[in-house]
Amino acid sequence: MTPAVIAVAITGSVPRKRDNPALPVTPEEQVRSTREAFEAGASLVHIHVRAPDESPSSDPALFAAVQEGVRRHCPGMIVQFSTGGRGRDPSQRGNALELRPDMASLSTGSVNFPTIVYENPAALVTDLATRMQANAVRPEIEIFDLSHLHGARRLVDAGLMDERPHVQFVMGVKNAMPAEEHLLDLMLGELRRVLPHATWTAAGIGAQQARVMEWALARGADGVRTGMEDNIRVSRERLASGNAELVRLAAEALARHGRRPATPAEARSMLGLGVAA
Ligand code: ZN
Repeated sequence: MTPAVIAVAITGSVPRKRDNPALPVTPEEQVRSTREAFEAGASLVHIHVRAPDESPSSDPALFAAVQEGVRRHCPGMIVQFSTGGRGRDPSQRGNALELRPDMASLSTGSVNFPTIVYENPAALVTDLATRMQANAVRPEIEIFDLSHLHGARRLVDAGLMDERPHVQFVMGVKNAMPAEEHLLDLMLGELRRVLPHATWTAAGIGAQQARVMEWALARGADGVRTGMEDNIRVSRERLASGNAELVRLAAEALARHGRRPATPAEARSMLGLGVAA
């Protein structure tokens, strides 16, 4: 069976703890939840951190605490920091890149979100890409709209990124790209034209998580994404008991498509990363 990278987005930046108390927000909770997800088959963790009042934070000390715990308890797991915007000062979004996580998310354009404009002006995108390159952090390009693929191509042309970035299509964010199967085909067609060597995955938000995962696997994606950042339920009736339960569901989806969870070493090789720090 061909391996696939299961990425787990453990926390996110939307205040959901009141909706699902299993959402991890302190570094201790985040490390514990990541460890459970790792043991269930996740090989990449996508990390946002929260201030003590649970608001989104850019504090490098919090990122450092989570990274240190993940490296200790989840050997080889790919650590990916978010440089995403919700609730964070734009000038602070790259603050933790000096900690040299394996990867960081990078949005290459702006888009409407449920209640805000997610602002990624070109100068900020260039600045974040420059700092990632300086710290040997591999980007995961977040694609919320078609033009974001061209934004990624511009970074390659500017020498700020190699020809083989990891790309994630994000579908089902209210006011952004809808979760519709034909749109994934459209985006993939354009990806193969402008970034033919890229690896890719897709994320579905809320109730779309499982459907988008199926579409991605049916098209031979290099990975899938799950986790409580995107979805806190396993069904309309029941909340997820934690990130690990969502990872187990992802592993079941992989098996239906003749795939299995990548080991950390396999995931690193697939995404062009070196051996674990
Ligand atoms: Zn995120």
